[in-house]
Amino acid sequence: MNLTALSFPFSFHSYPSSSHIKSISSRPPNASSRQISLDSPPANSNNPSSSPSTGVVVIGAGLAGLAAATRLHAEKIPFLLLDASDAVGGRVRTDFVDGFILDRGFQIFITAYPQAQKLLDYQSLNLQKFYSGAQVYYDGGFHVVADPLRHFSDSLQSVANPIGSVFDKILIGLTRIRVWTQSDDEILIAEEVKTIDLLRKIGFSDSILDRFFRPFFGGIFFDRELETTSRLFNFIFKCLALGDNTLPANGIAAIPEQLAGKLDPNSVILNSRVVAINQESEEGITVNLENGEVIRSELGVILAVEEFEAVKILVGKWDPGRVKKPVRSTVCLYFSMDSDKVPVKDPVLFLNGSGQGIVNNMFFATNVAQSYAPPGKALVSVSLIGLYDDVSDEELVETVVKELSGWFGEAVVGSWSYLRLYRIAFAQPNQCPPTDLRKSPRVNRGLYVCGDYVTSATFDGALDSGWRAVEALLKDKAVVKV
Ligand SMILES: Cc1cc2nc3c(=O)[nH]c(=O)nc-3n(C[C@H](O)[C@H](O)[C@H](O)COP(=O)(O)OP(=O)(O)OC[C@H]3O[C@@H](n4cnc5c(N)ncnc54)[C@H](O)[C@@H]3O)c2cc1C
Repeated sequence: MNLTALSFPFSFHSYPSSSHIKSISSRPPNASSRQISLDSPPANSNNPSSSPSTGVVVIGAGLAGLAAATRLHAEKIPFLLLDASDAVGGRVRTDFVDGFILDRGFQIFITAYPQAQKLLDYQSLNLQKFYSGAQVYYDGGFHVVADPLRHFSDSLQSVANPIGSVFDKILIGLTRIRVWTQSDDEILIAEEVKTIDLLRKIGFSDSILDRFFRPFFGGIFFDRELETTSRLFNFIFKCLALGDNTLPANGIAAIPEQLAGKLDPNSVILNSRVVAINQESEEGITVNLENGEVIRSELGVILAVEEFEAVKILVGKWDPGRVKKPVRSTVCLYFSMDSDKVPVKDPVLFLNGSGQGIVNNMFFATNVAQSYAPPGKALVSVSLIGLYDDVSDEELVETVVKELSGWFGEAVVGSWSYLRLYRIAFAQPNQCPPTDLRKSPRVNRGLYVCGDYVTSATFDGALDSGWRAVEALLKDKAVVKV
C-alpha cells in the first residue's frame, strides 16, 4: 500500500480548557508530533464553525482508540483522543494499592496476538510468563494439564490423569495442528458454531469438556456454557499454541500506557464525555461534549467506545444491526498473604474442574510477577464468572475463602487478608453465533466505529479494529492510494 501524506490546513487548538487536560504526565511529549496550543478561545456550541478543530477526533482511549491514535500519529495526521474516564486503557486498567498491583479483573496478555506484535514493544513491558498449562482442581486434588511442547515430562505424567482420556490429549494435539495451518483471517471468517458444539464434534469427552475446557475457555470468554463462537475459540487456541500467557511486570495497564506514552500528551484529553456527533457535511463533523463544548473535525471521527455507548451517541444515525445478547461479566477478588506461606511456587493457573462452587479460576499472581506485591507479601487473585449482583461483597469473600480452604487447607487460606473486589458488569461483548468478526468500521464517509465488538473480544481484536478504522478513513479521504 502506498501512503501519501497530505498537508493539513487545520488549526490546532487545545480542547477544552487546560484544566480538563490530564496528559500522560510521566511520559515526555513526543518531539515529532504537533503541539496543540493551550490558549484557544472557548468553544461555542451555538456556532460550530468557531469551535476548536483538529484533523480527526477519536472518542474512547481504550485499546481500540489508542491503536487508532497510534496509526494517526504514524501518518502525521493531527488528532485529539478523548475519553470520559480519568485515565487511558478503558477496560484494561490497574490500581496500585499499598504496594500491590491490582488489575481491574484477571486479564492475561498472549504474546502471539498478531496486531499486538506490530504495535507493542514487548521488551519494555517486561512480560512475566505463566506456566503453559494449568492445575485442575477435581475430586479433592490437583491434576496437571501441560503443553507437551513446552513441558514434555509434565505432560507425560498427566496422560493418565482423570482430566481427560489419552484420546482427548491426542485430540488437543490434532486441534493444534488444524489451527496452525489456518490463517487468522480464515479462522475469523470460517463457518461458525458454538465452541461447545465444535469441541463435541471434534470428539472430546465430557470429562475433558467439564474439567478443563469449561473452566479454561469459560474463564477467557466469561462463558462456562461455551456458547461463544468457534471462530474465537480457534483464534485464541492458535494464539495460545504459538505464544506465551503473560502479565506485564507493572500491571496489565502498562499495555495501554505504552501506546499512550508514544503520543503527544496534548492530544490526549481525559475526563471528557462525548454525548453527540453531528455530521452536517463530510468536512464538518462536530463532536459535542457533556459540558456543552464542541470540537470540529476536518477529516473524520472515529468512535472507539463500547457498543452500547456507540448506539447512544449515534442514535438515529447507526444501527449495529444485531440481536441484543447479554454481555459477559466477572468478579475478581484479591487477597494478600505472607509470601513464605504460598503453597506452590509455579506460575500456574488453577482451574475449578470440580463442577462445584463459585470459583472459576485463581492464581498466585506473585508467582508469575513478583512485582505484584510488596516484599514479603504474595498476591492471590480469584475469578468468578458472572456478576453475582444479588450477593453482597462480604458474602462473596466468605464463600470464596471457604471454597478455597477446601482446595489448599484452612491453615493456608485462613491467613489470607482480603484486599479488594472488582465487579465488572461489562467485561466483554457476547460473541455467541451469529458473529461477524470482520465488520466494516465505516458508518459513512467521515464516521467510523471500532472496538472489540467490531472484531474479536480480545486485546488484539480491539487493537486491530482501531488500526482498520484509520485505514478506512484514509481510503475514504484518498490519503491512501490503493
Ligand atoms: C476483566 C476483563 C478480563 C479480560 N481478559 C482478557 C484477556 O485475558 N485477554 C484479552 O485479550 N482480552 C481480555 N479482555 C477483553 C479486553 O480487555 C477488551 O476486549 C478490550 O480491552 C476492549 O477495548 P476497547 O478499546 O474496544 O474498549 P474499552 O476498553 O471499553 O474502551 C472504550 C473507552 O471508551 C470510553 N468511553 C465510553 N463512552 C465514552 C463517551 N461517551 N465519551 C468519551 N469516552 C467514552 C471509555 O471510558 C473507555 O475508555 C478482558 C476484559 C475484561 C474487562
